[in-house]
Amino acid sequence: MSLSEKLTSIKRYYHRLSGSTIEYELTEYENLLLQINNIKNELSSKSDFQLKELSQKLKADAVANSNLEDILVDAYALVNEAIKRTLKLEPFDVQIIGAIVMHQGKLAEMQTGEGKTLTAVFPAYLNALSGKGVHVLTFNDYLARRDAEWMQPVYNFLGLSVGFVQEGMSIAERKNAYDKDVTYITAKEAGFDFLRDSICSDKENIVHRNFNYAIVDEADSIMIDEARIPLVIAGTSEEAIENKYIMARMASQMKENLDFEFDEYARNIHLTERGEKFVEWKLNCGNIYASENIDLLSRVNCALHAEYLLHRDVDYIIRNEKVELVDDFTGRVAYKRRWPDGLQEAIEVKENIAVQSKGKILNSITLQHFLRLYSKLCGMTATAESAEREFKEFYNLDIVVIPQNKPCIRIDYPDVIFQTKEQKTKAIIEEIINISQTKRPVLVGTGSVAESAQLADELQKLGIACEVLNAKRDEYEAGIISMAGKLGAVTISTNMAGRGTDIKLGADDENEKREIKSLGGLYVIGTNKHESKRIDDQLRGRSGRQGDPGSSRFFISMEDDLCLRYKLDNLIPDRIIDRLEDGEIDNSIVRNEINWVQRIVEGQNLEIKKTLYQYTFLIEEQRRVLFQKRSEYLNDEAVLEFYKENAEEKFNLLLQKSGKDKLLSVGRHILLYYYDLYWSNYLAQMADIKESIHFRRLGGQDPVYEYHKHAVEIFENLQIKIEEDPTAIFNKIDSDKNSDFIFDSL
Ligand code: ADP
Repeated sequence: MSLSEKLTSIKRYYHRLSGSTIEYELTEYENLLLQINNIKNELSSKSDFQLKELSQKLKADAVANSNLEDILVDAYALVNEAIKRTLKLEPFDVQIIGAIVMHQGKLAEMQTGEGKTLTAVFPAYLNALSGKGVHVLTFNDYLARRDAEWMQPVYNFLGLSVGFVQEGMSIAERKNAYDKDVTYITAKEAGFDFLRDSICSDKENIVHRNFNYAIVDEADSIMIDEARIPLVIAGTSEEAIENKYIMARMASQMKENLDFEFDEYARNIHLTERGEKFVEWKLNCGNIYASENIDLLSRVNCALHAEYLLHRDVDYIIRNEKVELVDDFTGRVAYKRRWPDGLQEAIEVKENIAVQSKGKILNSITLQHFLRLYSKLCGMTATAESAEREFKEFYNLDIVVIPQNKPCIRIDYPDVIFQTKEQKTKAIIEEIINISQTKRPVLVGTGSVAESAQLADELQKLGIACEVLNAKRDEYEAGIISMAGKLGAVTISTNMAGRGTDIKLGADDENEKREIKSLGGLYVIGTNKHESKRIDDQLRGRSGRQGDPGSSRFFISMEDDLCLRYKLDNLIPDRIIDRLEDGEIDNSIVRNEINWVQRIVEGQNLEIKKTLYQYTFLIEEQRRVLFQKRSEYLNDEAVLEFYKENAEEKFNLLLQKSGKDKLLSVGRHILLYYYDLYWSNYLAQMADIKESIHFRRLGGQDPVYEYHKHAVEIFENLQIKIEEDPTAIFNKIDSDKNSDFIFDSL
């Protein structure tokens, strides 16, 4: 037994003991693989036409009998042959195993460079046969297009259609893409389309079909890192801008520890008693915690948050006079994302740039809840294991660890730890200079846009040319990162920029590849430890793909955010400090402590997410109830029934005057108008309550319980009003006036 096999078997044993559901045992999948491999040869002698006929037959079977398991073996053998003929690639056994796992609605952990894009084609094909649509959810727009175009020949060969959605596409283009058998799209675009559909007043403009089956690429990023933040569509509002400046000025006058305090991990701000008095005096609002001041309280909170917790070039950047949010995990600009509840505006005011109209939130949903709309969900990622509890808890997904096609020989060196940031940066620069002199490619992963820029600056001063990948240039990311494995390349990027794009040694030049291999392959340097070990592992995983050599090393200083926040410097005995010359701390206790902190923080983050989830799941249930009803009103019969039941006399009167078509159209618009208005108001109200609930001293009450209590009460009232108000308005219609006029007055 090799060392790595021994380690794997110890891991399995440990996991079984700890009650983990991660699967390492692959016999079940290998049996199916054997059956697939047995018919592969048979297919290779058939003509293209015969294969296409076979695909037609499978499709008919899938439509007639919805049990796809019965045709999995034939379908996968067929896809395998289609890939060989169209893309001239021979799928690896491990890819087929990953593909079986994903058909079963599980999460396949497959390392970087194992060919996940190709793997997804198998379950996408099989599940699309029933004609209900399959979505492959990608990490960004670029990958949606690239993967759809790359895999299109396989689908087309087998008689299936494929489409992709991009930001900026028209409704007709989107509809067309969603009507294809397989659609490649980012989870965010799919989510936004869901939101738009749910406030759409014309059946013709609804773009989605039912949510049948989704394959989530880079699943940890989409399902865990990005899942919490709500997707939002907003209209306009006219709130006085002046008020926002008053709020911002007030926040900037307040003093840490006197007027406000941070919680233990600097995630929230609380007013002190003095701060409370100051706010009440400044705003002249009476008790700031009074229920009529919920809105004010949440805006004070936003102003403080913007002033003291969010930092330019770390949490956000300013581009084209706009605030763009930087994703904490990816270091990239978070597409179309805003901070919720007025925080975005508070930042705009703080930065003194034109305040974008707040935009009343018309509808919003978190990605997490959106993804749960699919009847069947599966995913693939290089780092699933360490997020096992979250995948299970939030999506009920089991993880199967797929072995690599070729064993990984990357060397992960122990962390080097320094006392100060300055010493660390000096050591990193020396390391980059030494390595790049040999022409070995280096990829440096940093913690923020600002850090990337600073490092690049210093390197350039020393005459080292480097490419910088950060949130400000995301359109070039993929192109640059694909060249990061070339001879002499030095690439600096925020921790996961360019995800989804493979770094091939020497790009496609075989001679160069040989030379780089002899130099040791791609060298990855991490300049920070992230709160989540998973993110560090993603960075390491950029090197050592498909059995290539490679190495990784993290440089840490006791002044890094993670160490400061958890006061790790307290751990270092003075006698060690006294002996330091270049500041390097070669101490295993400190090294272990950093790893331990990551585990603690991951646990805490899980708890935070669970709490957030508790806040949102009830709202999602309510959304389901409301939107099911709303979508019924897109049909004439339901509208007719509503008014006959609630305003029969008026209905009959108007029917004679304006005719059925016009009457139903007016009636539908009134209903939808109130549904959308009440839902949007409801979201705003609940957001304000949530924003202020941690802020209120609840005398020992459970905030989640309090929130739910409000939610239930307000929603019950809403359900009554949402039917009463349209009826009242309908009854007020003046039958002598033109019905268009009624609309204008709504
Ligand atoms: P991942 O997403 O797993 O990191 P990709 O899907 O980007 O990997 O694929 C990485 C590279 O591997 C691509 O260039 C692809 O063409 C190649 N590849 C995938 N499958 C195979 C295969 N069976 N044989 C040869 N090359 C493959």
